[in-house]
Amino acid sequence: MFDTDILIVGSGITGTALARELSRYDARILVLDRGSDIAEGATKANSGIVHAGYDAVPGSLKAHYNVRGAALFSSLCESLSVPYRKCGAFVIGFDAKDLDTLYVLLQRGESNGVKGLRILSRDEALRLEPSLNPDIAGALDVPESAIVSPYELAFALADEAALNGVSFLLGQTVTAVEKTGEGWLARTGKGESVSCKVFVNCAGSSGADLHNLISDFPLHMTHRRGQYYLLDRAPVLPFSRTIFQCPSVMGKGVLVSPTVHGNLLLGPNAEDIPDPLDTATTSEGLSDVLEKARRTWPGASIRTNITNFSGIRAHLSTDDFLVGPVSGAANAFEAIGIESPGLSSAPAVGLELSEMIAASMSLKRKNAVVSLPRRPVPFHEMTDEQRNAAVESNPEYGNIVCRCECVTEAEVRQAIRRPVGAKTIDGVKRRTRAGMGRCQGGFCSPRVAQIISEETGIPLAQITKDGGDSYLLSGTLASFLKGGSVNE
Ligand SMILES: Cc1cc2nc3c(=O)[nH]c(=O)nc-3n(C[C@H](O)[C@H](O)[C@H](O)COP(=O)(O)OP(=O)(O)OC[C@H]3O[C@@H](n4cnc5c(N)ncnc54)[C@H](O)[C@@H]3O)c2cc1C
Repeated sequence: MFDTDILIVGSGITGTALARELSRYDARILVLDRGSDIAEGATKANSGIVHAGYDAVPGSLKAHYNVRGAALFSSLCESLSVPYRKCGAFVIGFDAKDLDTLYVLLQRGESNGVKGLRILSRDEALRLEPSLNPDIAGALDVPESAIVSPYELAFALADEAALNGVSFLLGQTVTAVEKTGEGWLARTGKGESVSCKVFVNCAGSSGADLHNLISDFPLHMTHRRGQYYLLDRAPVLPFSRTIFQCPSVMGKGVLVSPTVHGNLLLGPNAEDIPDPLDTATTSEGLSDVLEKARRTWPGASIRTNITNFSGIRAHLSTDDFLVGPVSGAANAFEAIGIESPGLSSAPAVGLELSEMIAASMSLKRKNAVVSLPRRPVPFHEMTDEQRNAAVESNPEYGNIVCRCECVTEAEVRQAIRRPVGAKTIDGVKRRTRAGMGRCQGGFCSPRVAQIISEETGIPLAQITKDGGDSYLLSGTLASFLKGGSVNE
């Protein structure tokens, strides 16, 4: 049984942003998540766009948090050494109806306070992005749009929160929440329980389920899956900006975008699904993505596709975020229905929700907080001189573990030793990029597993790809000769 002042359920970008903000106050804070790692929900599988804020309806919470959150991104990513780039975006239109939509988005953006928006003619847009479909009629130029590595931001937020005293309990699913006098008792499916003064629901696609356990105001959530192609890195990408098509009621539509690591992303489609955990990709879904991406980029080829993935949008029937105290439940707060632009909004949601919680508990600010130390320059970005110096100071920089992405043993070990360190092969992958390249970990996974085992003391055969039963090894020769299995 754990006892804490504040329990945050969900370690996605919302929960980790909130945890970091709350760690500035004098309080015991526990973040609990069902994943084997931080950010295993929508935060690990989205487009990675920091939206400027032209799409959200003025006056909505989406508009408020998007614009305020986007303004915080550059300095936040700088202070946490997280990859972020203001690459800009176009929203393209193909006919007179689309051009009307672009003008609506321009006006909406201006009333939301977005800077620099302007409508470009077909020729201006094609001059700036020559790989675009020549059939376009015009484009909305969005210079404030940016790209970020969403899960790397969540890892850094969690690390800084942990440095300031926040605890993390992973691999536990909250299945019941009960009122206990002034506070709450959350029970997990594995028989663990956490008693807390304040309960905070940041549970993404399960946010409505937890809300409905404690609130007098029932909510309905739709789970809307979006699938992607991720193309391999290339010295020159066909687009320097994110290219959107006109949005629809199902979302912002299929985009073609560079990523901060130099890949190209195509997706997502939008399909309502019954299971909030069903992150499968399907041939129909991917064909839909490719067909729509080809409308933006007629030359689109998936020859260099290195992986496909999907993420689940948590869409509330109210079509807006829900942030604040839970209706009918004293000492409970929530940030749910956080679909797009939830990544862009997270810094502002974390900040404002922390202020609400701190005020409700009369929390005092700490005199000093610890900042996350600057992350060393990744080996693949170092100059030859920097590489020589790195190997000189730590010979583990001389062992390349991932050849596709040029990730060294030193960096894999650093990822495991972080305040909320990696314990799975995918955890190392998302923190270092080992396994993110063309071979998708075919060569480096065994070595990564071995290093995790050395660093954590977890037996090699118990190391998983991504938690649960995703074991890499089914046993050792010695155990088979003895007639047993290592994973028993
Ligand atoms: C396809 C797609 C594309 C998107 N693109 C963008 C974009 O480009 N820009 C943008 O701004 N936004 C985008 N978004 C939205 C953005 O990804 C989300 O708004 C954001 O990641 C939500 O973060 P979260 O922390 O609220 O939820 P999540 O990241 O889903 O985190 C919720 C966490 O709660 C945990 N959890 C749930 N239930 C329980 C339980 N019962 N017990 C314990 N733990 C539990 C989960 O394991 C999970 O880790 C996109 C979303 C999708 C799906």
